[in-house]
Amino acid sequence: DSQLNPNYSFKNFVEGDCNRLARSAGFAVAKNPGGTAFNPLLIYGGVGLGKTHLAHAIGIDVKNRFPNKTVLYVSSEKFTHQFIDAVRNNEHNDFIHFYQMIDVLIIDDVQFFAGKAKTQDVFFHIFNHLHQSGKQIILTADKAPVEIIGMEQRLLSRFKWGLAADLQAPELETRIAILEMKMYNEGLELPKDVVEYIAYSITTNVRELEGALISILAQASLNKKAITIDLARQMVDKFVKNTAREVSIDYIQKVVCDYFDMGIDTLKSKTRKREVVQARQIAMYFSKQMTKSSLATIGMHCGGKDHATVLHACKTVNNLMDTDKRFRGYIEDLKKKISLQ
Ligand code: ADP
Ligand code: MG
Repeated sequence: DSQLNPNYSFKNFVEGDCNRLARSAGFAVAKNPGGTAFNPLLIYGGVGLGKTHLAHAIGIDVKNRFPNKTVLYVSSEKFTHQFIDAVRNNEHNDFIHFYQMIDVLIIDDVQFFAGKAKTQDVFFHIFNHLHQSGKQIILTADKAPVEIIGMEQRLLSRFKWGLAADLQAPELETRIAILEMKMYNEGLELPKDVVEYIAYSITTNVRELEGALISILAQASLNKKAITIDLARQMVDKFVKNTAREVSIDYIQKVVCDYFDMGIDTLKSKTRKREVVQARQIAMYFSKQMTKSSLATIGMHCGGKDHATVLHACKTVNNLMDTDKRFRGYIEDLKKKISLQ
């Protein structure tokens, strides 16, 4: 048994800028396990961003393409416990032998190997054997390898042989797409504004995004009544209330675009039309004021502008506020609307 969860397939994994590199590397590995430069493939990123899902997806795809290959998914905790048991029962060699027979070995959350010298040692030997035999190794971790404290240098240097690809927090479009796919899979629907409210509110963790959706869907089917935006707000707000909520760039853009009756696509486009440039600059200004994002990040969210453009936008807005009363009115209005989220 490969220990793979069939729901965690590539088909169910929504692609976005946040995961494109890791996903395509995973896909390449699945088509040619052990035969690409991505060996090991290490997928890293924060909690709930899809590391486990993507690792399973690769394993499932390998199994579909190469039914005779042995694929094993194991968490690093399980690996550690198995190893401890094996040592206790004098089955150390059986343990090593078992793992050396695998064609595609997936170990999830290897940061838990930190500080466990004996587990790292046995993993080192298994790793070397598999790698030399052209077998595929896939690892996940919650941070970049260099940041894992308590991991032996010789393992860290092995990790560098392949590819380390990170998963980022999903951007708004991806969050909406994930919610839509989830609803489709459940055969359920919610009003568009409700879906958008969830996607705007929960920005850093796909698991929480799904959690909010599921509880709203459950409520909807329980009460057999339509979920209104007000009800959805209450429920989503319950989800996020314990985490101090920072306004997101996406949210600022939405408020600014609504205010000027403009599409977000237009705001993010390359157009130099005066009113679009101005709305874009205002969105950049608020993003700088109200989020912790860097100038570069803000620029990227506003259609791939560089940090100098964002800085220029902030100055322009400041200047205009001093000289143009009507403009100042816009900014004050918008500030209220954004803070009110
Ligand atoms: P991690 O291992 O990084 O903590 P998981 O792989 O467990 O995160 O993902 C958390 C949840 O979010 C899972 O239910 C997973 O299916 C879902 N998920 C994460 N990323 C995506 C994505 N790109 N598309 C669809 N679902 C996703
Ligand atoms: Mg995980």
